[in-house]
Amino acid sequence: MHYAIIADIHANLAAFIAVLDDIKRRGGVEEVWCLGDIVGYGPDPSQCIKLLRQYNHVCVAGNHDWAAIGKLATSEFNPDAAIACRWTGQQLSHEDVDYLEKLPVVIQKGDFTLVHGSPRQPIWEYLISVSSAKENFAYFQSQFCLVGHSHVPLIFRFNETGACLFSQFTPNIRLVLAKKRLIINPGGVGQPRDGDPRASYAIYDSETGMVRLCRVPYNISVTQTRMVKHNLPVRLVARLSQGV
Ligand code: ZN
Repeated sequence: MHYAIIADIHANLAAFIAVLDDIKRRGGVEEVWCLGDIVGYGPDPSQCIKLLRQYNHVCVAGNHDWAAIGKLATSEFNPDAAIACRWTGQQLSHEDVDYLEKLPVVIQKGDFTLVHGSPRQPIWEYLISVSSAKENFAYFQSQFCLVGHSHVPLIFRFNETGACLFSQFTPNIRLVLAKKRLIINPGGVGQPRDGDPRASYAIYDSETGMVRLCRVPYNISVTQTRMVKHNLPVRLVARLSQGV
């Protein structure tokens, strides 16, 4: 069976639709595993929640999901993120709020633990360094952990010797799951930050044990035009073109 691993949609409907179309083109999936931050930054928070809910899916809460419904203070957000967060909160229906409110912080799916940030601090911690990743292998029981939050596609490997190695996750990597414990980040759908502006996600094939990264071009200007229309911060508009 196939599973889509997606993270950080960030209310970017055009990117999310492009990813869903790409999944369909590849034969579809049994279930979508979403690693949080459906909303925040982008112009279509409510539409992205509704679209995700049309699919057989599971989803954990991200910091932006919580901040948009007042479950988390925006004092730790940068000013642009805080502005977008306040605007996002005003766009959500009662149903959207209820959905975000009920998102769990951690989900177990077979050999996988799903969190937004890290297994140690599911909402807030960024796993972008080998040292923090290494410590985090002690905070989940399953063999594999899937994380989002940094919007950078990465693989952390834990060795028998106790060493932790990391590599960028790119579409040409044939990642076959075996005995090693891994932490995998599929990159961001709606606001990639690895210098490649294309939407990023992964597909897991449970028969072959392979996880593949997919990059999907989308019409960035559609999202940017809608952000400008809603007066969202210009820096957030501009970064989509660079993927940073
Ligand atoms: Zn995010």
